[in-house]
Amino acid sequence: MPHGEELLTRVGRDLHAALPSPSRHPIKALDAKGMELASRDAELRAALFRLVDVTPACRSLDDLARHLAEYVEEVDERPQALEAAMRVAHTAPGRRALGAAAATGVRHMAHRFIVGESPQAALGVLGDLWKEGSACSVDLLGEATFTREEADRYAARCDEALEVLSVAAGSWPGRHLLEADSAGPLPRVNLSVKVSALTPLMRPDAPHVGREDAAQRLRPLLRRAQDLGAHLHIDMESLDALETTMELVFELLDEPEFSDGPSAGVVLQAYLRDSGQQLDRILEWARASARRPPLTVRLVKGAYWDHEVVEARRHGWTPPVFEVKAESDRNFEELTRRLLDSRPRKDEAGMPSPSNPLLRVAVASHNIRSLAHAIAHNRATGGEDRDLELQVLRGLGDELGIAIAASGLRVRSYCPVGDLVAGMAYLVRRLLENTSNDSFLGEQQRGASIEDLLAAP
Ligand SMILES: Cc1cc2nc3c(=O)[nH]c(=O)nc-3n(C[C@H](O)[C@H](O)[C@H](O)COP(=O)(O)OP(=O)(O)OC[C@H]3O[C@@H](n4cnc5c(N)ncnc54)[C@H](O)[C@@H]3O)c2cc1C
Repeated sequence: MPHGEELLTRVGRDLHAALPSPSRHPIKALDAKGMELASRDAELRAALFRLVDVTPACRSLDDLARHLAEYVEEVDERPQALEAAMRVAHTAPGRRALGAAAATGVRHMAHRFIVGESPQAALGVLGDLWKEGSACSVDLLGEATFTREEADRYAARCDEALEVLSVAAGSWPGRHLLEADSAGPLPRVNLSVKVSALTPLMRPDAPHVGREDAAQRLRPLLRRAQDLGAHLHIDMESLDALETTMELVFELLDEPEFSDGPSAGVVLQAYLRDSGQQLDRILEWARASARRPPLTVRLVKGAYWDHEVVEARRHGWTPPVFEVKAESDRNFEELTRRLLDSRPRKDEAGMPSPSNPLLRVAVASHNIRSLAHAIAHNRATGGEDRDLELQVLRGLGDELGIAIAASGLRVRSYCPVGDLVAGMAYLVRRLLENTSNDSFLGEQQRGASIEDLLAAP
């Protein structure tokens, strides 16, 4: 960072000091232990993922225990506790007990990430988060749609969620930091939507087909969000969906009926080698658009790394993503600076610029270095804290969210809602991230020092 590793280190240390101790969250400490075991051993990790994946399809506890035993059998070096548990799998009552324990474990893990089975059921958690100083973005689980009926159902669930959340959010107490920045008011209700769930016709070779079909469902949702004063955020998925998603969002938001709202946003993935060009494209669109509300850009590293690498290798292509983690981290920092620097500057007397920003910036990460870099760069270039939003995933970034809120910064927790079956793909992606050898959370769990955690990538 050109102008101040020192400031970054100070910000990072403050954030680290504000983290609640994991020992105060015994259940999470237990989960962390399981994750740590899995992250040390690739075979055990594979067994855990296969179990999570198969759980919804198992018809009985006995069935689940048989799968578990089979997967664990393939692990060469089994931890003692697991070895002991497997010994009971030779009898029917033992298998039932083991199956029950495994089912509870998977459900427990899922509940850590999924805040409720329906928007109504999630209201308690969402209201508590708000009171504790964190806004939320709700994500309705159930990706990859194969039929029009499924896409219609997903759109109807989004519509219902907007309604349910808007009614409930009306009674939440005032939270100034969560409700306004220098560009104006921020909606209390924020829904994240996936384009692959809005159309069964997503084709990378014919993006217009999926785009036109998804537009039929996204347009009414934008109208609904506008009526209710809610924010709609369009998530980014694997590279196959990028063209359809970007073109869809830009085209719809440019329609005259959406010139004053709703508030909306897109996602930029820093692991993509061409993410700099993606940002050029977003900025170009924002400059040319007649829309008044600034587009929110959520910067992430990208959740489909394994998928992109496997797909590219299968075709003999160079992967579209960086292959060294530090390159994604460095690019994340560069994009953070470009995003923050795209906003209007104060004049020489320190007065805010009269023009509205083109973009609102949301930096989404669980990596203290990545977050501290964003906070420090924003401060060092004269930005106000309220003009930078930090985002975390429910279940992975809860402690960090508490620390961010305690530091007087705006935080939004991304909260999946839905049932366990629909949530499996999501859950496996989160487990993959959390247990990968170079993931920040993995390093933190293994006890890396704050100096190492804050070192430049
Ligand atoms: C609020 C929120 C919303 C999100 N929304 C989206 C979304 O819409 N779309 C999406 O794709 N993701 C999304 N993500 C997930 C995000 O992309 C990351 O996968 C996740 O946050 C982990 O990154 P990190 O910075 O927290 O942790 P870190 O541990 O610092 O980074 C892990 C990330 O580094 C990258 N990486 C890992 N290994 C390598 C390697 N060998 N070479 C190069 N890069 C590597 C991967 O992107 C991996 O996810 C979201 C995350 C949050 C917090």
